[in-house]
Amino acid sequence: MIMKGKKGIVLGIANKRSIAYGIANACREQGAEMAITFLNERFEGKLTPIAEDLGCSDRLYPCDVSKAEEIVALRETIAKDMGQIDFIVHSIAFAPKEGLDGRFINIPKDAFDVAMNISVYSLIELARELKPVMSDNASILTLSYYGGEKYIPNYNLMGIAKATLEMTVKYLAEDLGKDGIRVNAISAGPIKTLAAAGIGEFSFILKWNQANAPLKKNVTIHQVGNSGMYLLSDLSSGVTGEIHYVDGGYNVMGMPAVEFDDKGKPSLVWKG
Ligand code: NAP
Repeated sequence: MIMKGKKGIVLGIANKRSIAYGIANACREQGAEMAITFLNERFEGKLTPIAEDLGCSDRLYPCDVSKAEEIVALRETIAKDMGQIDFIVHSIAFAPKEGLDGRFINIPKDAFDVAMNISVYSLIELARELKPVMSDNASILTLSYYGGEKYIPNYNLMGIAKATLEMTVKYLAEDLGKDGIRVNAISAGPIKTLAAAGIGEFSFILKWNQANAPLKKNVTIHQVGNSGMYLLSDLSSGVTGEIHYVDGGYNVMGMPAVEFDDKGKPSLVWKG
């Protein structure tokens, strides 16, 4: 039981397809105790059976990360119900629709501000506000995507948010390292979730990744969950500031793979 004795909080479970659910489940399987959060009352009912499933029906807390007072309230509830925590999963992102398709140049400023606030600043704010209830070898994990590193069609505003998030991980890792707290990200391959459904032509991205990743498969929340559990556990006690790819190897590819016929003529492996 790798996570036995560890307690943590998981933010960003919308349903059982959420990456955060995969991570929470892997931690639970390895003996962790946790609390989970919901965005507002509209989502509380949906999360009740999931909390039961994860053994935390009595630790289902509200937290809209765009509201500073809810993060402070979360700290107070954690202090009262759990004492200290050993891990935080930040699996949250949001960008208004107009930031996720169309021409990049047309991204409105208010959409930019909202995406940065919810998808990036919330990580800094959570780390700062929850620090008083974090143990001195705690681990923080967030979720990124390759579109923060290279161009991906329609990822637009979220690409900028993920690039900023990845640098935030590095600066936070340095700052919190002196307190013994580690901060890492997983850059996950594309997975069909609610958040992903907001990205234009997402099914094409899924097919492209499957065809071109070395493992020739898209990753699952179970796979991301196990890697996340490792980064939250003491197995990774020497790892911080990392962006760890769980993407079937897609990020190492400089070109789509080709096959050669008998005459040495190359053709694309992917026939579309
Ligand atoms: P998801 O199931 O839709 O999870 C996104 C979560 O963010 C939801 O639980 C959503 O809550 C929450 N959220 C949005 N705004 C919030 C706010 N203001 N306060 C608190 N929570 C808020 O989708 P997911 O794909 O698992 O996404 C999780 C993370 O993985 C995101 O950072 C995403 O960018 C990243 N990621 C996803 C993929 C992919 O292909 N799916 C790949 C790489 C990285 P509600 O549902 O209640 O609104």
